Amino acid sequence: MKLAIPAWDIPTLPIVGSTERIPVRRVFCMGLNYLDHKREMGITGDVPPFVFTKAVNHVVPCEANETTAIRYPSKTGDYQWECEYTVVIGKRGANIAVERANDHIWGYAVGLDMTRRDLQLWAKNASLPWEIGKDVEQSAPVGPITPASKMGHPTSGALWLKANGAVKQKSDINQLILPVTGIIAFLSEYYTLEPGDIILTGTPAGIGPTKVGDIIEAGVGELTPIKLRVTS
Ligand code: MN
Repeated sequence: MKLAIPAWDIPTLPIVGSTERIPVRRVFCMGLNYLDHKREMGITGDVPPFVFTKAVNHVVPCEANETTAIRYPSKTGDYQWECEYTVVIGKRGANIAVERANDHIWGYAVGLDMTRRDLQLWAKNASLPWEIGKDVEQSAPVGPITPASKMGHPTSGALWLKANGAVKQKSDINQLILPVTGIIAFLSEYYTLEPGDIILTGTPAGIGPTKVGDIIEAGVGELTPIKLRVTS
């Protein structure tokens, strides 16, 4: 096969304790999966589990002990952080039972679901799709993956995000409304999950706006934290 335009690289994520990397296939993001974040978004009452996606080329791999640059995107004045516990799928499956969900997980990482909040809310209030708020270039920085074979399947652990050294998000992944195994069961009813798919599981309260020059640090439990600089 001869390609008419050059093929492009797939984003790959580093693995803790290995020189191998994981290619990213798809990016799934769960919405409104912490009670305190639902409250800060002004949402009361039950919301069924829901998912949105980001294009895979928006993944920004973050290496351990490095500061990774992300561009402040166009057409927004309110580009916000959301720190999220991130799951990496290692085994194909559809209609996965909750009890079997962990078998499909390769590992875990720290990820951010960066959001043009102004455009997301505009789209939401207009009952329009919110891709321009969420499907943003460089909006999915993800750190090194720790294999489940090494750490098991954590269901608790501090989740935190700092902006310029000040703590902005502070929660625990035990506060997830739909836990990871439930997320995999839910998603796999709609998609055949594939190796290399990653799932950002939702963010707790404390979302807020970045500006050019900010240093953003984020972590979850024992996972390798990430550090970013927002650039113009
Ligand atoms: Mn999110």
